[in-house]
Amino acid sequence: MDDASAAVIRRAREDAVEFVRLQFTDILGVVKNVAIPVRQLERALEEGIMFDGSSIEGFTRIEESDMRLRPDPSTYCLFPGLTGEARAARLICDVVRSDGEPFEGDPRMVLKRVLQQAADMGFRVMLGPECEFFLFRRDPDGKPTTQTHDEAGYFDLGPVDQGEAARQEIVLALESMGFDVEASHHEVAPGQHEIDFRYDDALVTADRVATLKVVTRTVAARRGLHATFMPKPIYGVAGSGMHTHLSLFRDGENAFYEPAGPYQLSSVALHFVAGLLEHARAFTAVTNPLVNSYKRLVPGYEAPVYISWSAQNRSALVRVPSGRGRSTRVELRSPDPSANPYLAFAVIIAAGLDGVRRRLSPPESHNKNIYHMTAEERQRAGIRSLPGSLEEAVNELVKDELVVETLGSHVFSRFVEAKRIEWDVYRTQVHRWEVEQYLGTF
Ligand code: GLN
Ligand code: MG
Ligand code: MG
Ligand code: MG
Repeated sequence: MDDASAAVIRRAREDAVEFVRLQFTDILGVVKNVAIPVRQLERALEEGIMFDGSSIEGFTRIEESDMRLRPDPSTYCLFPGLTGEARAARLICDVVRSDGEPFEGDPRMVLKRVLQQAADMGFRVMLGPECEFFLFRRDPDGKPTTQTHDEAGYFDLGPVDQGEAARQEIVLALESMGFDVEASHHEVAPGQHEIDFRYDDALVTADRVATLKVVTRTVAARRGLHATFMPKPIYGVAGSGMHTHLSLFRDGENAFYEPAGPYQLSSVALHFVAGLLEHARAFTAVTNPLVNSYKRLVPGYEAPVYISWSAQNRSALVRVPSGRGRSTRVELRSPDPSANPYLAFAVIIAAGLDGVRRRLSPPESHNKNIYHMTAEERQRAGIRSLPGSLEEAVNELVKDELVVETLGSHVFSRFVEAKRIEWDVYRTQVHRWEVEQYLGTF
């Protein structure tokens, strides 16, 4: 047994762990759990744990369903008293075939492949997300509603807003799991919150986003609330985004910083921005994967609609925050938290690296508020829009060789198939809006 695995076993013993949750995500980004009693931990670390892949969304066909979870020992942490009596730790796993070969349908593997390409180019990819979500009340049967505490605050007896108290507990739970939470605050909409943790390696960050969702939902549920990462739960108020800050490091230095460059940015940074803009229409299906995602990407709620970049303007798709030196970075503002973090980060990073590889130049940056431009002004300035619907986004995705290759044929075909079905089911619904609008008049 290697040292890392031996250390995990030692720590599990010290922590008096009774169960270990083995965590992975399916193609749609839903976090899955297999719990094993701690006495199985040694075997799990040595051989992996077999499971039936055919019952996981997007994984395998029935005839090749024997899959194996291989825990990544570097991801060990104690689950912070969330599971009632039993003390539990968790390990994030890679998914491999029964013969031990990496499984190309594993989203974590898709991200690892892109990070290897970055490493081959001499880069370490650092990433920091801003996760927004809503905390809603449950009805007396425990079913989630879209009612918030802020709204009902007037009737509440307690002085502390339930939502704020829940958020504090979520932050403490995350900190106990090794997160370095830099900020957490109430967002614009009633019941909307944001948690930002410190940037780190892209894979570590993707693991943390998956963990943050599980912990947030669990803590909320324990307090009788429902946490949702659905991008636009309520018409007419702000939706939830997952702004993603990216930088490349080379030889321990931030490769985006160049004091003498335009905006103090290096050519690597400019190429990276150009790559993001070049592939934005194609990767949006992955970073904004729900029918509902496109109801967030509309003017008026601080969410991006047009494909542009800016060093100043927050309405741009790509913004360059003011930090320089080691904290030089670009912020992509389109992703939403319903995305599978592994796949979303993989396609974003691949797009940026493609810009670096091909030495693409970004278009002129726009410091003017693009939302105040007319459609003609935008057209003259060559500013395109993000896809307006999941259907349009999927049609863009299939045309972009780089993004398709980044996903790999397995994930690509399962993802597109699932999203086309989702769109078709949605398309044929009769919406309440239609009935209200048409029933009386026609
Ligand atoms: N909620 C906004 C979005 O949808 C972002 C608001 C903000 O953080 N400035 O992206
Ligand atoms: Mg923020
Ligand atoms: Mg925010
Ligand atoms: Mg931001």
